[in-house]
Amino acid sequence: MTNVKVSNHPLIAHKLTILRQSSTENEKFRQLVREIALLMVYEATTDLETNPVEIETPMAITGGLSLKDQIGLVPILRAGLGMVEGIWELLPSSQVWHIGLYRDEQTLKPVQYYNKLPVEPTVSVCLILDPMLATGGSAAATVDILKHWGVRKIKFVGIIGAPEGISYLTAAHPDVPIHLAAVDERLNEHGYIVPGLGDAGDRQFGTA
Ligand code: URA
Repeated sequence: MTNVKVSNHPLIAHKLTILRQSSTENEKFRQLVREIALLMVYEATTDLETNPVEIETPMAITGGLSLKDQIGLVPILRAGLGMVEGIWELLPSSQVWHIGLYRDEQTLKPVQYYNKLPVEPTVSVCLILDPMLATGGSAAATVDILKHWGVRKIKFVGIIGAPEGISYLTAAHPDVPIHLAAVDERLNEHGYIVPGLGDAGDRQFGTA
């Protein structure tokens, strides 16, 4: 699993431990998702390309680096939304593109219900955001959509992954790196990650 990168940063581990607990209330949960997302993206962007630029400080003219790529954040609705805010603090000029998918109860396959991507790609790097990589179906379908749009550099940034979801996404898109804070034991019969943290959407939006 060379394209799977599981963080071993103590700050992420500490915050994830609080995030998982049933006693963590919605407001705190949202704050932690924001903070973990920010830290995860810091780790996931170490290979972004830069351009040399000339700048003027109050003292002298000197050289610096600026990010080369226009970055797109693609939260998978709805749980991925909570990750955007934190990441925007690090990458304020990134574009946010929403893609809505739901799981068909009969086929269990993801079905697209929202997609307003323009014809031509407006970004060169996409970060797909979803706190939970469970079956991997939505993540793989989102990669399909983005590749079809014309984006070649795509990464998945999540918080907790199930082995099933990691295998599915890796098999479908071996070129897409997967960044996670933890890999858990398994999926249960309802598609929830165990031990996980429950429903990441409900816990962020207070809809449990
Ligand atoms: N989505 C969630 O919110 N939680 C899981 O455990 C799996 C998918």
